[in-house]
Amino acid sequence: MKNKEVVDLLNRFGTLLEIKGDIFFKVRAYYKAAEAIEALGEDIEHVAKENRLREIPGIGAEIDAKIKEFLATGKVRAYQELTKEVPESLLELVEIPSVGPKKAKMFFDKLGVRSREDLADALAKGKLDGLPGLKEKAIQNIIKGLKLVQEGHERMNLGVATATAELIIEDLSKLPEVKDISTAGSLRRQRETIRDIDILIVSPKPQKVMEHFLKLPAVKSVNAHGETKSSILTHEGVQVDLRVVEPSQWGAALLYFTGSKNFNVKIRQIAIRKKMKVSEYGVFKVSGSRETLLASKTETACFKALGLPYIPPELREDIGEAELFPAKGAPNIPKLIELSDIKGDLHVHSQYSDGHNTIAEMAAAAQKRGYEYLAISDHSAKLKVAGGVSPQDLIKKKKEIETLNAKLKGFRVLFGTELEIDTEGNLDYNDKILSEFDFVVASVHSGFEQSREKITRRIINACRNKHVHAIGHPTGRHIGKREGYDLDLKEVCKAAVDTGTLLEINSFPIRLDLDSANIYFARSMGVKFTINTDSHHVDHLEVMRFGVSLARRGWLTAGDVVNTLSLRGLLGSLKKH
Ligand SMILES: [Zn+2]
Ligand SMILES: [Zn+2]
Repeated sequence: MKNKEVVDLLNRFGTLLEIKGDIFFKVRAYYKAAEAIEALGEDIEHVAKENRLREIPGIGAEIDAKIKEFLATGKVRAYQELTKEVPESLLELVEIPSVGPKKAKMFFDKLGVRSREDLADALAKGKLDGLPGLKEKAIQNIIKGLKLVQEGHERMNLGVATATAELIIEDLSKLPEVKDISTAGSLRRQRETIRDIDILIVSPKPQKVMEHFLKLPAVKSVNAHGETKSSILTHEGVQVDLRVVEPSQWGAALLYFTGSKNFNVKIRQIAIRKKMKVSEYGVFKVSGSRETLLASKTETACFKALGLPYIPPELREDIGEAELFPAKGAPNIPKLIELSDIKGDLHVHSQYSDGHNTIAEMAAAAQKRGYEYLAISDHSAKLKVAGGVSPQDLIKKKKEIETLNAKLKGFRVLFGTELEIDTEGNLDYNDKILSEFDFVVASVHSGFEQSREKITRRIINACRNKHVHAIGHPTGRHIGKREGYDLDLKEVCKAAVDTGTLLEINSFPIRLDLDSANIYFARSMGVKFTINTDSHHVDHLEVMRFGVSLARRGWLTAGDVVNTLSLRGLLGSLKKH
């Protein structure tokens, strides 16, 4: 299916025309066509063959001809002509937050900047200073944006990585030659961002597995092809490495290829102290030049041979190293929270604000997941861009929830809100309205550029309100787009503990906020948490798994998280100090 390639082409075409300064109308035609094909439920090649491209809204004669040319030859002549005027590499610049097509053109025209590398160089040399309409603050934002994009290109978020890996694993698992299969590397450790995907397989017939792997529909190109190890690039540009190992070495290989690097170093040091050796083939006793295999078949056996308890993959990081490898005694590993511990979700949106589904639909989907409760926490009135709910509509919403609850069995919809903390730190609804809610999560959606003191004060102020139960996505980061605002997390944690306010672990893959290091820190301060999805669609409820992974990486047990409690336990715990 070439739908994605065609969408990419049209978007690039539009952007290059925009950089060139072509008329808005023409530029927009390309973007519209790209959007329509993105939403197309059919194979574009099939549609083209049947000469039905022009039935797709937004595709006229000109774009129709270009798509056909592309599908037939893999190229479009007019596009190649255009790149002679406007270098294709300028597209890299437009991806940078705060650099649009206009600035890209200016950098190209005035400074000869043709790529991100050129831009980095021009910035380092101060060449952007004094360009028309470019203030110091704008230059600082470009520097920040450039850094973010560079990192974002190297790493995808956990949600994207998981979706890609699971498709491939599902396909490979169907082969009778595959006896066991697992992710390894940073994906198995559930890191928030992932560079490439590692998959490990046990099979007596590696060749068969490799042949099948290289021909998967997801494969765009093959980087390396060996007997037991291959590496491919998917159409989305994700690198996937596959290794096939012997059944007898499964545990040792899994341990070794899961990492992290630092964790493996620690394990090796422990082995050396005990006159042992650990490698991808097993744990060995070493005496002189003789090596005797102690364990290799399962990870648990390998850990045991080293005198260690089983360490879950999520803990194999630098976070919590002092607890994991104490100077004296054995590691004390808590019983980490699991997805099955979660009994409800306290931050989801409905059609009352910017959600896609009705309250009843969201509730049905949550109940189907086995939850006991769901708080419909729509945006508050001031966040107009996201359809903030007016006080009048709150009355209607509350009634709707009451009527629904009267019908539901073994499940309760909670009347919630995602309360706006405004740029001055004031809360959107007054105390009388706030006292009506079952659950209030207060969030910052504006004033990201403010000073550390000011942002911290805004959030602490929200903690001090007795109706605010939790702080939503506490650092405000957007992976690959925006760093979090400058926050004094220690002060926020103190205020949270003082007032009995929860900090949210937002599971949405582009947020993953708090991140695992911050969770570990907040836990050490005595903070309690809520793990929520921030769903805007019934399908989003699924992302709870990522929040739970983060919580595990932050060493949390079910006892640290309020939405592992039963409904009655939860309502009791929400009373503030
Ligand atoms: Zn929010
Ligand atoms: Zn939200």
